[in-house]
Amino acid sequence: MPENMPHHNPPANGIYDVTIIGAGPAGLFGAFYAGMREMSCKIIEALPEVGGQLAVLYPEKWIYDAPGYPKILAKDLVKRLWEQTARWNPRLCLDERVNLLRIGEDSIMVLESDKGVHYTRTLIICAGVGAFSPNKLKNETVDRFEGRGVYYFVQDKTPFRGKRLLIVGGGDSAVDWALNLKDYAKEITLIHRRDQFRAHPSSVTELMSSPVHVMLYHELKEIRGDNHIESAVVYDNRTKAETTLDVDYILLNLGFKADLGPIKEWGLEQQAKRYLKVNNRQETSIPGVYAAGDVAAQPDVEPLNLIATGYAQAAIAVNYAYTFIHPEAKVFPGHSSEMRL
Ligand SMILES: Cc1cc2nc3c(=O)[nH]c(=O)nc-3n(C[C@H](O)[C@H](O)[C@H](O)COP(=O)(O)OP(=O)(O)OC[C@H]3O[C@@H](n4cnc5c(N)ncnc54)[C@H](O)[C@@H]3O)c2cc1C
Repeated sequence: MPENMPHHNPPANGIYDVTIIGAGPAGLFGAFYAGMREMSCKIIEALPEVGGQLAVLYPEKWIYDAPGYPKILAKDLVKRLWEQTARWNPRLCLDERVNLLRIGEDSIMVLESDKGVHYTRTLIICAGVGAFSPNKLKNETVDRFEGRGVYYFVQDKTPFRGKRLLIVGGGDSAVDWALNLKDYAKEITLIHRRDQFRAHPSSVTELMSSPVHVMLYHELKEIRGDNHIESAVVYDNRTKAETTLDVDYILLNLGFKADLGPIKEWGLEQQAKRYLKVNNRQETSIPGVYAAGDVAAQPDVEPLNLIATGYAQAAIAVNYAYTFIHPEAKVFPGHSSEMRL
């Protein structure tokens, strides 16, 4: 959850001027432009956090080609983007995946998600490579404790204070959370199924000299407990030798998968299978529906899937969406430097 969650005033009739699917850089910057145009705006994101690929795939990597920053960590760029966007108080729906689009009465678009129904005049799809969801372990005991001691994200670290924590994984998330929580939790064990980490080498060096108990070549076999987790059985995948760890919480950081899934079924024309086809106004084949960022491609133009190109496409999409609602208006929003913000 972003730290500075804004207070949001929903439109009286519940119908937003623009809804943006995806809170990656394109979606967040699009929401900023929607604010510039005083459009009521809702962002719906499948993950419980904003940032898209930057947040889940490379939060600790440096980005050198983000406009205005000679060098910035991906996670810090996400923070700055959110800060810039939050000033307009968009409605942010996290942990919610949009599954269906249909056109309802008076051309109002209806979006159905795994949590409810949303109404909007225009739609901007900034779905990147698809809805992210955490990789899960196929294990009945893990399923039993999901949300009751087994977590895939840390949205609030308070429950871990003074507790015994098992972290599973070898990527940036696993290592960063072990380091972040090492002075907060009572004790942390990190198990990883290999001896090579995908995490940033400097973080791994820090981990290895920290009090975190690291068990390489180990995997989770079983979680034990009644109402809450009491212990976890882990095993050495070379010798099959089992160890029982007394733990209170388990954090599974096993990476993410992305799935464009349902969006492909909405009748939008596609481009080279993986993209939504757009024209140079970022319009898709359905009037009022736009696409921007990694999900969008124009015919005969090789996609350049970068943060900077996504920003530009999102700005174009939002300003054309504005003229879709207000056909008499100019596409050009005016310069932000001339506004009194
Ligand atoms: C390792 C790596 C390094 C990179 N380095 C750079 C770099 O240095 N510079 C650069 O410019 N680019 C870089 N990129 C590319 C850059 O990250 C992407 O171009 C950018 O993230 C695309 O932004 P986006 O907003 O279009 O999509 P994304 O960042 O993919 O965000 C899309 C969001 O939409 C959500 N979503 C999708 N479908 C749904 C749905 N149905 N319902 C709800 N939510 C949904 C997803 O969960 C996701 O959070 C890198 C990419 C990777 C993988």
